[in-house]
Amino acid sequence: MDIHEYQAKEILAKFGVPIPKGGLAYSPEQAAYRAREIGGSVWVVKAQVHTGGRGKAGGVKVCKTENEVEEAADRMLGRKLVTHQTGPAGKMVGRLYVEGGVNIAKELYLGFVLDRSEQRVMVIASTEGGMEIEEVAAATPEKIVRMPVEPAVGMQAFQAREIAFALGIPANAVTEASQLILRAYRAFRDKDGTMLEINPLVLTHEGHLVALDAKMSFDDNALFRHADISELRDKSQEDPRETQAADRGLSYVGLEGDVGCIVNGAGLAMATMDMILLAGGAPANFLDIGGGATPERVAKAFRLVTQDGNVKCVLVNIFAGINRCDWVAQGVVKAVEMTNLKLPLVVRLAGTNVELGQQILRESGINVITADTLAEAAEKSVAAAKSVAAKAAA
Ligand code: ADP
Ligand code: MG
Repeated sequence: MDIHEYQAKEILAKFGVPIPKGGLAYSPEQAAYRAREIGGSVWVVKAQVHTGGRGKAGGVKVCKTENEVEEAADRMLGRKLVTHQTGPAGKMVGRLYVEGGVNIAKELYLGFVLDRSEQRVMVIASTEGGMEIEEVAAATPEKIVRMPVEPAVGMQAFQAREIAFALGIPANAVTEASQLILRAYRAFRDKDGTMLEINPLVLTHEGHLVALDAKMSFDDNALFRHADISELRDKSQEDPRETQAADRGLSYVGLEGDVGCIVNGAGLAMATMDMILLAGGAPANFLDIGGGATPERVAKAFRLVTQDGNVKCVLVNIFAGINRCDWVAQGVVKAVEMTNLKLPLVVRLAGTNVELGQQILRESGINVITADTLAEAAEKSVAAAKSVAAKAAA
């Protein structure tokens, strides 16, 4: 789960990481009020959307008067912000964060991620802050420092100091910097983060360190023990299709093609996608019904997949181990009747009770194209989707 910048900063502040003074605003008037509250003569109005690259997309505006703050807020609120990370659909700006302007001497990068291959938390730091770390990694990889944390002992003070030195922090600020790094690490660890990115971490002209931007993601499987984090979820920032599926205990991934896919298991989902691409088509989405899918669950999955207007054919590809093909078949029949499905439907079943499943499909009288192998299923669904598209165009 992702959260907003201001929420991530609040968490960091609780762990003792310095952040600029700021406040949340839902209207231009409130933004101006926040600026007055913060004081000073420079403010930054920042769109709160779950994406990076806001600065380049007009989602971060430096202002010199309260009037400018109000105008910037008016331009951002209620609009969609399109950054290189959001895709063309963009993300709705519903709230703003107004922050005191910081006197920046140097922008640095500090990040924490779970490195799955190393099975450790990896601290990533760079002197090239303010830029996308992916760009730095591509152009000047030597400017990135990576430091694994031993899980048994956690991050050590000497490691934080080493990072501070690698970042070129002046001697009189090294203690402050290492404290900040350790505190950020604790926030990441204690809240079960999967990613924490402070970009930029700023060295001010006054010689202090401040987290100027913060992005944080959490392990969904650990949210049950962080009620304070779960309630920060902002569904307006998520793909509504994925949210709906998650609320029903299904996992859904929205894509750009036109074959709707109902599968079980992430591995089979990947294989199905490869086969569809190989057959010259593209998947519109994936819905993973998981193990032990009851007919009701399959029916729910159908409704979600066919809600996507791009879907021109539905492909059900199930390898039943824990699942049972007869249950899946019952679910398919039920779903076709309930949703009054008009689109072509391709079903490939394999595994437990496969004969029974196929018999249920045959005897149901529903219009279904069956396939025995994954390759055949992919070819048939791509062909079906193409013929629907051709008919729609004619
Ligand atoms: P994003 O990463 O989404 O573009 P940031 O919060 O990193 O958004 O802001 C982009 C840039 O705007 C920063 O790199 C920094 O140069 C400037 N900036 C952001 N907040 C402030 C602030 N409070 N004071 C001064 N400059 C800021
Ligand atoms: Mg940033």
